[in-house]
Amino acid sequence: MTLNSLDGAPPLLFNMRGGDPFETLLALYHSKRRWCSTCHREVVEGMDYDRTVVSINPRIKKVSPSFPLAVGCIVSEKLLEMFQRENVSGFVPHPIRWEGGHDFHALPDYFHLEITGRVELETRLFEESGEECCQECNYVVGIKGRKILYGRRKTLVRQGSWDGSDICKAKNVFLGEMPIVSARIIDIIAAHKLDWLSFGEVIPGVAIRAPVAVDWKDEVTQKLYAKYEGV
Ligand SMILES: [Zn+2]
Repeated sequence: MTLNSLDGAPPLLFNMRGGDPFETLLALYHSKRRWCSTCHREVVEGMDYDRTVVSINPRIKKVSPSFPLAVGCIVSEKLLEMFQRENVSGFVPHPIRWEGGHDFHALPDYFHLEITGRVELETRLFEESGEECCQECNYVVGIKGRKILYGRRKTLVRQGSWDGSDICKAKNVFLGEMPIVSARIIDIIAAHKLDWLSFGEVIPGVAIRAPVAVDWKDEVTQKLYAKYEGV
């Protein structure tokens, strides 16, 4: 296997998470489902983006005024505007609404990103953890009772499969709503010195957290080569 160049290709999965106030939001997705005739499981086929609502976790009694920039592909207006200013490609934003009673005021607007960019993941290393992708629905099937690892060393983007969008979905592996982003997004986050975002969840040991260092690519490249040397 040859590693992807990091020159603009999306090497990492965009994963945005953190502690409070990140745990204060619950997004309710309305998904379209069907039964897969090959692996006989109920699979998600799409989202009803116009019906997504966000509520505050009922366990939280007080909400910090600094709302999260994003929770997965639910992004705040602030982050959306930044993406639009920077001509980030690969998504269609759908406004979402708050649900439930709460006495928190000045709740920010959030948007559910419908991801239109596409890329394939390299699945050859899945065998190392006894996993394979269902040919029909792309769900990953693993060893019963064991957590799905997406390959012991996790996965990389398949060379030549990227459509060039800044925000992508995996075309050949079902990862739910997890967005895969280009290096350019991480550069934008680094340039704006944004907090509370992290990238690289799918490749353990390679994750980087905001505030992202300007030379993050060098660090990630070294870690990736160390991890995949000889593969
Ligand atoms: Zn299936």
